[in-house]
Amino acid sequence: MTHNITPQPGIMDIALYEGGASHVAGLDNVVKLSSNENPLGASEAAKEAFKRCAFDLHRYPDSDHSALRAAIADVHGLDAGRIICGAGSDEIIAFLCQAYAGPGREVVHTEHGFAMYRISALAAGATPVSVKERERVTDVDAILAACSEKTALVFLANPNNPTGTMIGLADIARLADGLPAQTLLVIDGAYAEFVDGYDGGAALVDARENVFMTRTFSKLYGLGSLRVGWGYGPQHVIDVLMRIKGPFNVSAAGLAAAEAAVRDQAFAQQCRAENARWRDWLANALAEIGVPSDVSLANFILARFASAQEANACDDFLRTQGLIVRRVGGYNLPHCLRITVGDESACRRVAHAVRQFKEGA
Ligand SMILES: *Cc1c(COP(=O)(O)O)cnc(C)c1O
Repeated sequence: MTHNITPQPGIMDIALYEGGASHVAGLDNVVKLSSNENPLGASEAAKEAFKRCAFDLHRYPDSDHSALRAAIADVHGLDAGRIICGAGSDEIIAFLCQAYAGPGREVVHTEHGFAMYRISALAAGATPVSVKERERVTDVDAILAACSEKTALVFLANPNNPTGTMIGLADIARLADGLPAQTLLVIDGAYAEFVDGYDGGAALVDARENVFMTRTFSKLYGLGSLRVGWGYGPQHVIDVLMRIKGPFNVSAAGLAAAEAAVRDQAFAQQCRAENARWRDWLANALAEIGVPSDVSLANFILARFASAQEANACDDFLRTQGLIVRRVGGYNLPHCLRITVGDESACRRVAHAVRQFKEGA
């Protein structure tokens, strides 16, 4: 029988998201450096909290997330009433698109911006608009020039994935000041925790009605498998998002582990310091062998090669060495590879393997 069952306009324009690979056939001792995961894992306190949840698996989770929101508010000095938790920050991004974008409205993101902005915009029936960057750095003037009466949302990852670069708070404030009245600026702080002394844009959120911030437990806190993220915004936006949030969108184990993780700032600080140390070491080691990268503020570096062909050949070689990094052709950066900063041994293995590749090339 034939059918005429069709999805909403826009859905079929979504290319399937490709996650970072984690296996190489025939090799063990593989190191996965393709998804920006924390090489030190999660805090012991978070693991203990997760284990305790095993005794209550038959219970629905708390739906207002009050304990986790209070912990986040405490640690970051925020208003708990203006925090919303989601199944990863991906879900917060989806809520924002569902609530504010839609047919006839536009969602602006940067040229090398995170893939979920386009996917969530299309899923909501809205039109994604890609804005040029300046040498892999967000260009505030170009974003402002791309905005119109149709612009509902502007997404800006800061630091950005996969470039690792960021712009300063003064530039973000200038962006927020210049936006049309109906546009909400979303600062995606998935990597904000890696930047010493950076609040992810929280103070800007507090000072304005048109700025929203998203954060995650998947990167610095090492809880990617549990899917916990959060957003912080003006009350009017939180009130809207709370209406579309499912009551049980975050699991009890996710809530408990995230609460313990955010309260364990000693471990967070240790992870931040280790990351900075090995990120800088790796960037220098690669630069010495002719593979430059922009100064990264995140937990990965974007290694630049002479051509897409060389980047792909290096990726193929790294795989034979059990090292999985990320191709970023889908981000318009076919001559680059994104390499997550692993632990010391992983960084040394990557630097060694890239050197072997360069010497053999
Ligand atoms: C990883 C990432 C996220 C999403 O992480 P969740 O696991 O969904 O919280 C959001 N934005 C950027 C830029 C990321 O790299």
